[in-house]
Amino acid sequence: MGLTEDPGNGAATPAHEASAAGEPLAEGAAEAEDELYDITIIGAGPTGLFGAFYAGMRTMKTKLIDALAEPGGQLTALYPEKYIYDAPGFPKIISKDLVKVLVEQALQWNPTMCLDERVVTLDKSDEGHWVLVTDKGRHLTRSIVICAGVGAFAPNKLNAPGVDDLEGVGVHYFVKEKAAFKDKNLLIVGGGDSAVDWALNLQDVARSITLIHRRDEFRAHEGSVQELMKSPVRVLTPYEVKQVSGDGKLEQCVVYHNKTKEEETLDVDAILVNVGFKADIGPIREWGLALEKRGIIVNNKMETNLPGVFAAGDIAAEEVKMNLIATGYGQAAMAVNVAKNYIDPKSSIFPGHSSEKM
Ligand code: FAD
Repeated sequence: MGLTEDPGNGAATPAHEASAAGEPLAEGAAEAEDELYDITIIGAGPTGLFGAFYAGMRTMKTKLIDALAEPGGQLTALYPEKYIYDAPGFPKIISKDLVKVLVEQALQWNPTMCLDERVVTLDKSDEGHWVLVTDKGRHLTRSIVICAGVGAFAPNKLNAPGVDDLEGVGVHYFVKEKAAFKDKNLLIVGGGDSAVDWALNLQDVARSITLIHRRDEFRAHEGSVQELMKSPVRVLTPYEVKQVSGDGKLEQCVVYHNKTKEEETLDVDAILVNVGFKADIGPIREWGLALEKRGIIVNNKMETNLPGVFAAGDIAAEEVKMNLIATGYGQAAMAVNVAKNYIDPKSSIFPGHSSEKM
């Protein structure tokens, strides 16, 4: 479950620079399911990441859980290559670069990061702690900040015969490590930034790469598409997958031109599907939270109707809704500092100034 081991009570430990640089986060030793955390943040979008930073600064033993395999929320899933012009401190910054620095800032305190894990239920333990059950295990915590944005992201699945049977044994929706594609004849499906970026970035490990996209026009960044067209990657448009096959592992994929219906059988041992994400608030509706159409109802301390459970960012329904990264930062700071006071009433809500602490 946990990717980055927590050293203890969240005391300051230098950042993992590899993670901050966008490389895979180090796999930590499996943690005990009954380990109690001070605070668990659901959602590693900008709001949750900034909240994790604040929780670390308040020496809270912190856990961050996200359904996506990578942190960054909407910035990672929906617009990684776009410029953001209203992120505090950056006149302009590419979305994925903002995620990189947010991760670097959050990881200064070594929160436990549980990625690719979706929170399904919220309950109370016999001891009165909160219990979060995910699709991979359970997590015990004294307080919770829900930073779930527009809901849990999951990749859109490829809808073709054979795909489901070969998921994990040739069919992939994420690149967790480039080495998984070493010496593979790789087919990439998609026409957005992720598909094009991976086609360019996996050239040094894959034996061959073919990219198919169902339209002639790409949605990816113009410069990346130009680079793709000049690269050795074989590009087929407008092509789609008809079926995949293999005996226990992927061996072949039939693709077809969606206008002429002409078919081609490709010998491939890996397919990377990058055809977008869907978001779903889903289970959060069943957790006993007071909701309204726009999200979870909070007061001006970001408290929900459940004691010790807070909400911040896009998921928090306020009188005037302002779904912006900057708004989430402020709400995360409020929620985490109120949570600190909730678990330890002797500590003040106001954290003091970081410039005087660090
Ligand atoms: P999100 O970014 O949505 O992150 C929520 C995370 O929670 C997700 O990773 C999700 O997987 C996870 N999650 C949800 N439910 C669960 C669960 N049950 N279990 C585990 N994980 C869960 N804002 C700006 O300020 N400036 C801009 O220029 C800007 N441009 C934008 C452009 C586009 C195309 C879009 C779509 C949005 C833009 N926004 C912009 C809005 C901004 O991206 C959002 O306000 C911001 O991402 C909200 O952050 P968040 O952390 O609250 O939620």
